[in-house]
Amino acid sequence: MNAEPLRKDDVQAQNSPRRNFVEVYQNAGKAFHLIDKYQTPPFPSTYSLWYAYVSGADDQLVARVDEVLAKHGELSAYEIEEIVQANLAQDSNETARQNIGIAFEKEMESVLQIIQEGVKRSDSFRSTLTDAGDKLPNSMSSDDLKGLVSGLMEENRRMAEVTQELNDGLIESQKQIATLNKELQEVQNQCMRDSLTAVSNRRAFDKRVLAEVNHAEQSGEKLCLAFADIDHFKRLNDTYGHQSGDAVLQMFAAIIDQNIKGQDMVARYGGEEFAIILPRTDILGAYNLMVKIKHSFEKAELTIMGNNTRISGVTASFGISRFKPGMTVQQLIERADSHLYEAKNAGRNRVKAEGMS
Ligand code: GH3
Ligand code: MG
Ligand code: MG
Repeated sequence: MNAEPLRKDDVQAQNSPRRNFVEVYQNAGKAFHLIDKYQTPPFPSTYSLWYAYVSGADDQLVARVDEVLAKHGELSAYEIEEIVQANLAQDSNETARQNIGIAFEKEMESVLQIIQEGVKRSDSFRSTLTDAGDKLPNSMSSDDLKGLVSGLMEENRRMAEVTQELNDGLIESQKQIATLNKELQEVQNQCMRDSLTAVSNRRAFDKRVLAEVNHAEQSGEKLCLAFADIDHFKRLNDTYGHQSGDAVLQMFAAIIDQNIKGQDMVARYGGEEFAIILPRTDILGAYNLMVKIKHSFEKAELTIMGNNTRISGVTASFGISRFKPGMTVQQLIERADSHLYEAKNAGRNRVKAEGMS
């Protein structure tokens, strides 16, 4: 009942940006450590889970993680997803970004504080010098002069120490900002890239296609959407094995990626199907580009390392839709998809485009 009242310094320390930052940053560090320790998949949801776990904000989550760890000694991707869904109300990627974002903001605050501290210190140094200057004409005795000089020397030494501390603090902050930047970049990349082909994933596609449809609607600029699907891919998997299938997927993604430019975007839409967004492109330009990609893919050869298998002559079919004012994203996708199926039904290895077939 007789708890010591908090001193002013303690209160300041508790509320200081530095303390908040250190806590967030340490928790982030612990979360990354646990990802590594339990070899959990390095997804944003995993990061969110471990972050919530180490910060201890949610008793239920901590208890559930402890229970699974006690039982299996590890967390499977399925269990992670289940715990995240049940306990972390917010979107897990968003949480990961927010955690890192908070840490980043706090770090910026602490840099500002260090700089402000520096300004304050140099003000005090300046006023010591001015005081000394003011005193000088009336302090001609050698003792006074000695006192002044040693006072200045002392102040100078103190200044050097403070400057060193400030420099150390700034260097440390810069390092931490660089680390946070890298982590943030990694989280964002994971959220938006397909891990097999390294092109954009469905999530990135959904976001971008909506933005492009809105832009085309408002600006009146042209917009085309193409779907590309590898022909008889199941047969290829059955003949050469799933790993060879993966290699063909990587090759197809790379060929599309090499042929598009500027604001165009290729994304893995699902399985062996890719979507290509072509802003400011008319239907003829889109058609010619898909024909070029179709030829490049058909001509490409793939040598599978290890068993010397050569795969060639794999083909793909393409469907292209064109944005018209008033169209929704869904309609644009459905039109491209229906042209793709036209291409498949017409015998595959061909391009079908709105108003051109
Ligand atoms: P179609 O010409 O009509 O497109 O026939 P298809 O065989 O290409 O299409 P289908 O939809 O019947 O089969 C697609 C196959 O793609 C089935 C699935 O196992 C395979 N697949 C999906 N994702 C991957 C992947 O990531 N790697 C590999 N190797 N195969 C995949
Ligand atoms: Mg296919
Ligand atoms: Mg398909």
